[in-house]
Amino acid sequence: RKGTAVITGASSGLGLATAKALAETGKWHVIMACRDFLKASRAAKAAGMDKDSFTVVHLDLASLDSVRQFVRNVRQLEMPIDVVVCNAAVYQPTAKEPSYTADGFEMSVGVNHLGHFLLARELLSDLQSSDYPSKRLIIVGSITAGNTNTLAGNVPPKANLGDLRGLAGGLNGVGSSVMIDGGEFDGAKAYKDSKVCNMLTMQEFHRRYHEETGVTFASLYPGCIATTGLFREHIPLFRLLFPPFQKYITKGYVSEEEAGKRLAQVVSDPSLTKSGVYWSWNKNSASFENQLSEEASDADKAKKLWEISEKLVGLA
Ligand code: NDP
Repeated sequence: RKGTAVITGASSGLGLATAKALAETGKWHVIMACRDFLKASRAAKAAGMDKDSFTVVHLDLASLDSVRQFVRNVRQLEMPIDVVVCNAAVYQPTAKEPSYTADGFEMSVGVNHLGHFLLARELLSDLQSSDYPSKRLIIVGSITAGNTNTLAGNVPPKANLGDLRGLAGGLNGVGSSVMIDGGEFDGAKAYKDSKVCNMLTMQEFHRRYHEETGVTFASLYPGCIATTGLFREHIPLFRLLFPPFQKYITKGYVSEEEAGKRLAQVVSDPSLTKSGVYWSWNKNSASFENQLSEEASDADKAKKLWEISEKLVGLA
């Protein structure tokens, strides 16, 4: 039978390119988990995806109710769930003021981490009950947050979760900070913090559930896809200069198509079944197991993050 992969944020950028790459093999059905139903269906059509290769299901990660409703809806499709890809993200580098999810969390961490945390926890039992040979839960990471040992990981503001006091306080700006470490709002840092959360969450899933469920947990840095909508809120000059800068100076640039193939590899390649791994690609587009920065591989922090997140999304 075909495999079924749920991909969040499949309406553009990396998520769409991955959906297309998987659909084209004829071996995958993609559940496109998107906040804008019409945009997602149009994007799939424009990408040339066969109408039988995908199903769009509404998911707004900025609302925990929407996440729970998505889980109910997806179960009603009565398709097995073999792979889940947490890919959607918001990035608000120029925001002066924080914005909030329906549940009152700062938006970047609320969508990128907390929404996905609830989704992944809910869908774990579905993955577990699938009879697919290699079941996977993938959370998209980033070099800017996960590798403070690299140039890209050292551009300020740097990710830092501190002692998680802001998160523990609810991350809502009401009696607590909107930043995980308790500091002042900074949109670029909030994004990087959320990506560290993504990578810590993947590893904590691995420690808690890999043996028991047989599910492979993985993260990846697909390369710098300087053309995606992720940079839509950046200043115009940045958007003009960033793609050539990445192409010619840092040489970290990858096309959306190439990045989509990389993520599709993490979804389906029979040789990438190892769990707990953060995948990256070298200049020849060969995958390798990358190292994470100290904070992004801190097991105590991962455990603490897990426990606080559980409370915030109503699982504990
Ligand atoms: P895009 O902005 O193109 O895609 C982000 C997707 O997330 C869109 O489909 C968007 O939906 C969706 N999304 C945003 N908010 C929500 C929400 N509340 N609920 C549901 N979906 C939502 O960016 P990319 O493709 O670049 O980003 C994809 C992933 O890749 C992210 O995890 C990002 O951190 C990661 N990444 C990107 C890099 C890059 O260089 N671009 C580098 C490293 C990692 P909509 O279409 O409706 O706006």
